[in-house]
Formats: sequence, C-alpha cells, structure tokens
Amino acid sequence: MALKYENVKEEIEQEGWKLISDSYKNLQTQMEFECPNGHSNFYTFDYWRKHRNCPVCQENKYIKINDRAPKKKGFRVLAFD
Ligand SMILES: [Zn+2]
Repeated sequence: MALKYENVKEEIEQEGWKLISDSYKNLQTQMEFECPNGHSNFYTFDYWRKHRNCPVCQENKYIKINDRAPKKKGFRVLAFD
C-alpha cells in the first residue's frame, strides 16, 4: 500500500516530530524532519521509521550521561558503605 504525504506527516507528528518537506514520493525520498527538540535532519522516511532518533539529541544525551556518571558512582560507593 502506497503511503500518502498526509499519512507520513501524521505518523511523524505522532512521535512528536515535524515534517518540514512538503512532498513525499516514496520510502527512499529524502526529506527534512525536525526532532521534538527542534533540530532539523535529512532522512528518508524508511530510515526515520527504523531509527526515530536525532543525532544531535543522541549526542547531547551522551554528554549528559557523562556529566552525571561521576556523581552516580560516588553515590553508589556511599550506599555500599
Ligand atoms: Zn534533536
């Protein structure tokens, strides 16, 4: 079943993302997506469906985890004592 632009847009918006491009041809068409945090990314719809992640957010997440790591470790050591 061929997807229509409206279907694609709806699916994307259900995930909190936005579809910036105003046309859709098929799963291999590259389109502009905006993640829930406002970063724009270029993907095919097929790729987005499989991954649903934003590389910018992904990177920020790693930075946050690294920031928290030393505190968490210290807390755990205290708990064991
Ligand atoms: Zn993002």
